[in-house]
Amino acid sequence: MTGRIPQAFIDEVVGRSDIVEIIGARVPLKKAGREFKACCPFHNEKSPSFWVSPDKQFYHCFGCGAHGTSIGFLMQYEKMEFLDAVTDLAQRAGLELPREALGPRDAGGPDLHGIMGKIARFFEQNLADNARARKYVGARGIDAKTAANFALGYAPDSWDALLNRFGPQEEDRRQILQLGMIIERDTRGGERAAGFYDRFRDRLMFPIRDSRGRVIGFGGRIIDQGDPKYLNSPETPLFHKGRELYGLYEARQARADFKRLMIVEG
Ligand SMILES: [Zn+2]
Repeated sequence: MTGRIPQAFIDEVVGRSDIVEIIGARVPLKKAGREFKACCPFHNEKSPSFWVSPDKQFYHCFGCGAHGTSIGFLMQYEKMEFLDAVTDLAQRAGLELPREALGPRDAGGPDLHGIMGKIARFFEQNLADNARARKYVGARGIDAKTAANFALGYAPDSWDALLNRFGPQEEDRRQILQLGMIIERDTRGGERAAGFYDRFRDRLMFPIRDSRGRVIGFGGRIIDQGDPKYLNSPETPLFHKGRELYGLYEARQARADFKRLMIVEG
């Protein structure tokens, strides 16, 4: 079950996680002696038979038999894959995932993160080369240092700038399609020739980075007028909108002693 992650690492992740905090963030827990209890989130009940033990770092339901560690809870409650649950908890605890854990999912196959990183640099270079886009950034009150910290870029006013640069071969094209950077033309009705075009055009580009700093998607704001005003990457193998918090990586990098953090939606 544990795949290629050493058992010692899994034990450390569990040991360094606070199961009361993990479960308490999702299920209202009541203190009961040295343990905590709640109505079980995994079966329907009126009186609590779901117990969480901070000492033993596991949960147990006397009603339905649900039982496990914080890893098991995330898998059962959040429907996470084992590796995602371990990764999530390891990141919270500030633990680096061992190389073996990156196993078959990241190794082999195309380097999608690498491609996204190259695309981000392509946009950055375009911003540096485009006076109109740079002027827009300045007009919005973003200085050069902030723009660099957030790796802002510019998607050229073109239907195929990215397509030509990153997808001349069919295999590359398939990858950037999978990454949501190009769109396949709708040929129903037969009016248009088959083909692809760039999703982001004439937009100020904000790379969306995961908590490890890897580019996984983009948000694009139209320069001047156009619809839609904001356009984001679709869900892709790398980008899952509901799991990311834009700016988290950058905030960590700043290593500032924040007295207050404001988190906004929208
Ligand atoms: Zn239960």
